[in-house]
Amino acid sequence: MDFDAVVVGGGHAGIEAALALARLDFQTLMVTQNLDTIGKLSCNPAIGGLAKGNMVREIDALGGEMGRLIDRTMIQFRVLNRSRGPAVQAPRAQADKKAYEVAAKRTLERQPGLRVFMDTVVDLLFESTGRGVCGVVTERGKRFTARVVVLTTGTFLNGRIFLGEHVQEAGRMAEPAVRGLERPLSELGFRMSRLKTGTPARVSRGSIDFSQLEEQFGDQEVVPFSFSNRELDRPRLSCYVSFTNERTHRIIADNMHRSPLYSGKIVGNGPRYCPSIEDKVRKFPDRDRHQIFLEPEGMDTEEIYLNGVSSSMPEDVQEAFIRTIPGLEHAEIMRPGYAVEYDYIDPSQLYPTLEAKLAENLFIAGQTNGSSGYEEAAGQGLIAGINAARRLQDAPPFILTRAEAYIGVMVDDLVTLGTKEPYRMFTSRAEHRLVLRHDSSDTRLFDRGYELGLHSQERYEHFRAKREGIAEIKGLLRKRKVTGDDVRAAAEIDADGERRNEGYRRGRGENPAGCAEVLDKLVGKSFYHALKSPSLSITDLARLEPSLRPADATRCHSFGEGRSSGWKHDASSGFLETNGEPLTEWLHQVELDVKYEGYVARQERQLLKFQKIERMKIPRDFDYARVPGLSTEAREKFREIRPASVGQAGRIPGVRNSDVAVLMATIERNRARAEERAELAGPGEQSTRSVTEPAAAAEPATPCAEGGASEEEAAPARSSEEVEPAAGSRDREALREQG
Ligand SMILES: Cc1cc2nc3c(=O)[nH]c(=O)nc-3n(C[C@H](O)[C@H](O)[C@H](O)COP(=O)(O)OP(=O)(O)OC[C@H]3O[C@@H](n4cnc5c(N)ncnc54)[C@H](O)[C@@H]3O)c2cc1C
Repeated sequence: MDFDAVVVGGGHAGIEAALALARLDFQTLMVTQNLDTIGKLSCNPAIGGLAKGNMVREIDALGGEMGRLIDRTMIQFRVLNRSRGPAVQAPRAQADKKAYEVAAKRTLERQPGLRVFMDTVVDLLFESTGRGVCGVVTERGKRFTARVVVLTTGTFLNGRIFLGEHVQEAGRMAEPAVRGLERPLSELGFRMSRLKTGTPARVSRGSIDFSQLEEQFGDQEVVPFSFSNRELDRPRLSCYVSFTNERTHRIIADNMHRSPLYSGKIVGNGPRYCPSIEDKVRKFPDRDRHQIFLEPEGMDTEEIYLNGVSSSMPEDVQEAFIRTIPGLEHAEIMRPGYAVEYDYIDPSQLYPTLEAKLAENLFIAGQTNGSSGYEEAAGQGLIAGINAARRLQDAPPFILTRAEAYIGVMVDDLVTLGTKEPYRMFTSRAEHRLVLRHDSSDTRLFDRGYELGLHSQERYEHFRAKREGIAEIKGLLRKRKVTGDDVRAAAEIDADGERRNEGYRRGRGENPAGCAEVLDKLVGKSFYHALKSPSLSITDLARLEPSLRPADATRCHSFGEGRSSGWKHDASSGFLETNGEPLTEWLHQVELDVKYEGYVARQERQLLKFQKIERMKIPRDFDYARVPGLSTEAREKFREIRPASVGQAGRIPGVRNSDVAVLMATIERNRARAEERAELAGPGEQSTRSVTEPAAAAEPATPCAEGGASEEEAAPARSSEEVEPAAGSRDREALREQG
């Protein structure tokens, strides 16, 4: 084999997949059409947002790259929904697009074990069995063999762009479409269809009258996306707000016949939650205005992105309607808006590992699976890269459940429900969103990333110090009782105006109840209990208890970003070597944990039920024909989707509770029978067995030779989810023992 793995595509999915494979010590080749468009932010110049920001932090906690890339290249930062509950708060950053691409390319180029090559993949190589993929063929006739292939073709598969009457084969404006790959995919039996997405015009900053616009500043306090970064020193640019008006809408309505969207040229479904301005005018005729955000595309460019007027109308129409918008009367379009339509595969043809059911060793991620968004693509790329590596390690699959991560919710939705329109992540898609707060991503996922081998020891020590520091603070809060002296000291605090301002800043509105008044009712209670009071913040308690006062972060050097001096964990205090003072970020996390403890506990009780059926695994070759009592619809759906767990089976549309009950009973019965047999047969026997007794564990495929590849029938991977440590990791075993 030329390589262990080939990753097709240098977009957000490809970047994460290739880095994960190379960082897990596999010789990886990334083949991408154009090295100069690696990591391109083809649409809005921003990373993060509601639920998307959570996924970026989850990617970082698992050892992925997107969080570090945006921390390096952000030009504005905001926490959205700051005035609402933490479960719906999310970080969003404006990115310097060019700087982001350069940082992404450099990270790939400098990654040991990863080679980046410029070409277009137009075909796949198959093992002689015809079931397993073992390489790719490029437009220039190059053949690269590999044991696994990850496909991340974005909007390029049979891409076609639309700009009024102008229609062109392209994946993005001025970037050629990819033709050819659809043939092996459809020959394998993949259901493929068309989707559409669109982008707005970019106008030159110099042609805008900013005096008519409302300026939108970023937050003062920047919370880095990456858990390796402490504080960021990045330039801050503003965004601006304007609105369309009736004149705008009339121009669009009068020219709707020239819209490729409404003239029927475009057949693919577009993103429901990111509609074009044509859609908005057509679907919300009573709205007299639509909000627009003017977003800078970077530090060294005059281009301004018009968020909210995505359009594929002819250029003259775009110019006309844009010039009706206040502040844009003399706008000069630098890049017109356009729409792109492309092929995608129905993702319900993938396992939760994102491996294809129709071809082994083939993993698919990103827009190709019907999702839309950089963050969605990156999350899938990471999962596909990790599982391609697990396949090479012959290790059990890595699957995140809906209770562990937004990435788990996304992948489960895609592979269980499929999608008929571009799938975008929202907090409302997650049943357990209270436990999926963005700031708790590391608590939920860092260990898993470390066990996989995607975190360095240093990074892990940093996380462990934080976890112990937080536990230490909670311990202190539990021990420290409210005293009469505290009430008296609090009266002084109330007397100064600072607390009121702080109350306003933290979105608790004006005049929170007096600190002393609240504490007076809590004398004798623990600080931990007191902190549950909505009128008290950890900052209030820190004014009463010096050891809760945060360290001055500037004295603590961040872990990433080339600042070499690491953190030292003071084993006796559990705090980092900051003279024992905790860090603001830790205190904030403690406050959220304590204040939402009750809700989270209730959600965790619900989770227990969920996890019970989620842990009930179904072998990939389970024979549904031999399960009496299943409805015909359920039997058909189970055969098609091949759910990995009873939990997933229960989420398939059209499956009734009675079907799930029958399935659970059958699997329970099989497990009992298998255990009985194991007892009779003695040690080493597998526990769960399908009705049909599946074959023994997978033999590694023989190297792929043109036309004459391996003879062995590649058996399906084992179904248990327990992650086995990669070879040579010292502490992971220790971690595993800790469970
Ligand atoms: C016009 C437009 C508008 C968009 N609007 C929105 C929006 O409004 N909201 C939103 O959330 N997202 C939007 N997106 C989507 C967003 O850009 C994608 O979701 C995201 O970039 C997907 O990442 P990806 O890695 O899957 O694919 P991409 O970012 O598309 O990257 C794919 C990469 O693979 C390369 N490639 C593809 N096929 C091959 C091949 N066979 N051989 C070699 N290289 C190959 C391509 O050159 C490209 O570099 C838009 C995208 C476009 C193009």
